[in-house]
Amino acid sequence: MIKIMSVNAGSSSLKFKLFEMPEEKVITSGIADRIGHEDAIFSIKLLDGTSKKQILPIKDHARAVELLISALIDEHIISSLSEIKGIGHRIVQGGKYFSHSEILNEDTEAKIKELIPLAPLHNGAHLTAFKAFKNAVPDAGNVAVFDTAFHQSMEMEDYLYAIPYEYYEKYSIRRYGAHGTSHDYLSQIAKETYLKNVEHPSIITLHIGSGSSLCAIKDGKCVATSMGLTPLAGVVMGTRCGDIDPSVMPYIISQTGKTSQEVYDIFNFQSGLKGISGVSNDTRDIEEAMEKGNERAIIAAKMFARSIANYIGQYYVRLGHVDLLVFSAGIGENSSTFRKLIVEACKEALGLDLDEAKNLEYVHGKHGYISTKKSKIPMVVIPTDEELMIAKDVVKYLKLSD
Ligand code: ADP
Repeated sequence: MIKIMSVNAGSSSLKFKLFEMPEEKVITSGIADRIGHEDAIFSIKLLDGTSKKQILPIKDHARAVELLISALIDEHIISSLSEIKGIGHRIVQGGKYFSHSEILNEDTEAKIKELIPLAPLHNGAHLTAFKAFKNAVPDAGNVAVFDTAFHQSMEMEDYLYAIPYEYYEKYSIRRYGAHGTSHDYLSQIAKETYLKNVEHPSIITLHIGSGSSLCAIKDGKCVATSMGLTPLAGVVMGTRCGDIDPSVMPYIISQTGKTSQEVYDIFNFQSGLKGISGVSNDTRDIEEAMEKGNERAIIAAKMFARSIANYIGQYYVRLGHVDLLVFSAGIGENSSTFRKLIVEACKEALGLDLDEAKNLEYVHGKHGYISTKKSKIPMVVIPTDEELMIAKDVVKYLKLSD
């Protein structure tokens, strides 16, 4: 049995999960949140199932790693750091360099650093966390698992933007996608569980949570995905606008005097469900407001569902046929209401038939078919597990065994 740490360092947070592999058992998990603030939060699950939560200053990611390391020992979750044999780091942007995970060495580190301009909030934080772990657990190997890697199999006509080619050549501007680790995981589980006897399956995966993306997958390989150069593109999301006419940016600037950065922040953090509804980015709040007849919450939900249905239609055409539709992530796994809205928005064209009872039942970790036998395309709920996928890649790339 080997202990593997999965790390997800965001711009102001650091999430972690410690696994026992190959059993895939979660030993502990937690988060350091609001990093950079005096009242940051550190929370970790203890072996007895309870959680310990502290509010304290955490000045940077290195301090967050120190807190995590001390908690593992002080709370007797492990007895020595040498028990941790590998650490997997989620890396948001792997650019053109990475089509699969890689051992984190000087060369990998240099490439991740070079890609910082393409993911300014993330790649720098990933490297700070990596260095802190390297100092704290020097004997463990480190593996980089890229959010973009799974999408590297896209063809040029699917990933290029129709802007002057030199921008692609000089500045690497193209569609990279995101959530690749999740889409890859969903594709593998779909194949093992639901498509055992289907040769060369074509599926559409819906990773719909606070950030949402869809992926068209043929024979286990991504052919198209909805996020773009950054995660701002694609479907309507919690706070992100998704696809939008680029002219909206200069027009808002001319009308409001805001800077491009301010408008960009509005597109990222004040738009989507939140911007349209004026209620919240969280579908639970939207559902509550819809029940009370809030018109803007209703239109926000319809826009969300229709933008997803439009991508499903697009990917149906791209794939030629679809063997399975997979719902996953916070909304896809938990919101019967939103799943139903999405199915309603494309059922006529695709011959979808939702099993209403199963759709209501399969939430909070319950999974399986949510379509009836009549449905021309079967639909399932699969809970995603990016951290487990990262831990599996650590074992694979470091060639670890019991
Ligand atoms: P991320 O990992 O990107 O932070 P998640 O995939 O966990 O996001 O999705 C979080 C979102 O899922 C919430 O903002 C909310 O919109 C939705 N969600 C979570 N639980 C429920 C639920 N029980 N009912 C409806 N929506 C839910």
